[in-house]
Amino acid sequence: MPEQTDSASRRLLGRLRDTLAEPGAGQERLDRITHIIAEQMGTDVCSIYLFRDPDTLELCATEGLKPEAVHQTRLRVGEGLVGRVAKTARPINTGNAPQERGFRYMPETGEEVFSSFLGVPVQRLGVRLGVLVVQSKEGRQYSDDEVYALEVVAMVLAEMTELGAFIGEGEALTALHSRPAMLRGTVAQEGVAMGHAWLHEPRVVVTQPIADDPATEMARLNEAVDKLRITVDEMLNAAPDGDNEQLQVLEAYRMFANSRGWKRRMEEDIARGLSAEAAVEKEQSAARARMQTVPDPYLRERLHDLDDLSNRLLRILTGQGERTGAERPADPILIARNIGPGELLDYGRSLRGIVLEEGAVGSHAAIVARALAIPLIVHAGRVTTEALNGDPVLVDGEQGIVHLRPEETVASAFRDKMAMQAKAVKRYAAIRNEPALTLCGTRVALTMNAGLMADLPSLESSGAEGVGLFRTELQFLVRTKVPRRSELAQLYARVIDAAQGKRVVFRTLDIGSDKVLPYMKRREEPNPALGWRAIRVGLDRPGVMRMQIQALIRAANGRPLTLMFPFVAQLDEFRTAREHVLGELEREERLGRVLPEKVEIGAMLETPSMAFAPRQFYEEADFISIGGNDLKQFFFAADRENEHVRRRYDTLNVSFLTLLEQIVKRCEDTGTPLSFCGEDAGRPVEALCFAAIGLRALSMRPASIGPVKNMLRKSDLTEARAVIDAARASGAQSVRPAVMDWLRRRGE
Ligand code: PEP
Ligand code: MG
Repeated sequence: MPEQTDSASRRLLGRLRDTLAEPGAGQERLDRITHIIAEQMGTDVCSIYLFRDPDTLELCATEGLKPEAVHQTRLRVGEGLVGRVAKTARPINTGNAPQERGFRYMPETGEEVFSSFLGVPVQRLGVRLGVLVVQSKEGRQYSDDEVYALEVVAMVLAEMTELGAFIGEGEALTALHSRPAMLRGTVAQEGVAMGHAWLHEPRVVVTQPIADDPATEMARLNEAVDKLRITVDEMLNAAPDGDNEQLQVLEAYRMFANSRGWKRRMEEDIARGLSAEAAVEKEQSAARARMQTVPDPYLRERLHDLDDLSNRLLRILTGQGERTGAERPADPILIARNIGPGELLDYGRSLRGIVLEEGAVGSHAAIVARALAIPLIVHAGRVTTEALNGDPVLVDGEQGIVHLRPEETVASAFRDKMAMQAKAVKRYAAIRNEPALTLCGTRVALTMNAGLMADLPSLESSGAEGVGLFRTELQFLVRTKVPRRSELAQLYARVIDAAQGKRVVFRTLDIGSDKVLPYMKRREEPNPALGWRAIRVGLDRPGVMRMQIQALIRAANGRPLTLMFPFVAQLDEFRTAREHVLGELEREERLGRVLPEKVEIGAMLETPSMAFAPRQFYEEADFISIGGNDLKQFFFAADRENEHVRRRYDTLNVSFLTLLEQIVKRCEDTGTPLSFCGEDAGRPVEALCFAAIGLRALSMRPASIGPVKNMLRKSDLTEARAVIDAARASGAQSVRPAVMDWLRRRGE
């Protein structure tokens, strides 16, 4: 344990604490602080610069520079030595400041006479708040102890800034969390939402950064670390065998929890006057700062683990946790670093929107958010540090933008946008019970995609004619072990009940690739999207597939049953899967169970190979459903989850439309019912073009049924077809410009 010296920083912190305890306005406090630091460290100058906006620092208090410069002197990030500290988040310690790269002379401050300069960043958990500087006339290098002391003081300043200790006049002294912030992210589920922030894991607030008695703090830290080690060991014991990823994370936790270096650094911080929680947070801040600069993804992950562990330790030390007593707003926008699918399902439809700092478009959470039709933005920068519980939030799931504490002008524009959408929804409600009948008299069946029991009420409210795609993987994804046959049978039966006679197309388990079951042994595959997934897993490990088929047969209990297999890539795969269904039907009959009144066995067409499959495929499949999301990614060789490429190729590209048209023709030749159930079916312009080339059944998110039906009812497919054909003949890459032009001329 480090010696508990009466070091410079402890004395400094002691005086700082007394000052902070005194009443006073923000400016007064800052002035007193600069005075104390300069006096205690024996420097001629001490200045505090805080951010007034993300690019500009403002001198907010000084001892030693000209007082008139306060709130006048401003620096851009990167400008001068102060700006460089802000930019790099690293201290600068020099005995000859004017010779230092980037030095900028600021006459208004009278600083030319100061040779030595020590600047340290004021930052909290990786969020930069400002720069703390000391300067002296004599050209000396500050000692390590002095650098350390100033860093510790900067940490306390950051903590106090966060707590609002320095609120005063001017931009730089407005309360940190009262400024509007706009964060950019990636859309994982479209839609717009307005509400108030609800932090999944509220941040721990360190209210006492400075402590009286290092011995007590050491004891608190030791006790907390012991508790943490026990928790990590318990988590390791409880982790399922074979889940290498989880085990790896937990092993890393254990390594950190037992790391002497980590503990020693925190003990040193305590010896210098910090409280136990402030010491933990100081280490956490350092890890976060490193996290932002480390390019190696493995190391970044480990720093991440350290960050998680620090959070756990802070919770143990402060007793603060998920249950902070805060009341959940009536219109919650969930804010989290990341969230698992199970946790998200627990929140269910109570959420208006979700914003994740990390996450991924194809993550399980995104799948659940999509199923719940809740707008979701992922990769939203520093959202968990920027947002506080209850902050007003606007989620623009069209542009991928999150507005925190928006200005009134932004909020009112947003309200207008939402009102327009609400009006459109009303218009759609008026045609809910009308068929999707085009002006030329063609009837298109519109069904909905679902994946949860909770989706079923949308059958009624959206006017869907049935469920064109029921994704069955969610029930598997959100559990910790394979669901039992009886559980599945009950659930599927409830889905069929809720559909009240409308057709429900169950898709058998589509796992692998992005959808990895928590209890499934993870295989390292060079390219999982092209790997062991969906029907390939089903056929290689038929146990689960057969169990699912049995559950479906039992759920139908004498009623019609419709099922289809995902990701069929060649005829024999479909044939073998079909044999399994026929085999299970025989077996169930032998067991004396009631068989479905009628069984339809279909295939999803998601790989280009099936567009060219033998005619027998089209004859033997009772129906075919085009999985456009996958078909498109394989057709264009563009990963549907890769932001760099996923929007590059238009669905209305002539090549893709021609492929679809060919599938339509082959189905017409064999009389095979065909539908399209990828996301594109829910986009009105795309849906119109699909109908124009001959598709007569489209399955989509329930919210899309209104807009698509509205578009179809106003359109003449023969005209649309002529526009598409002319565009194709003209050599256009995509028919979209021509179709959009035609729609505009039509008055839309
Ligand atoms: C598809 O690929 O278009 C599809 C509907 O299936 P999923 O999105 O579940 O892969
Ligand atoms: Mg698919």
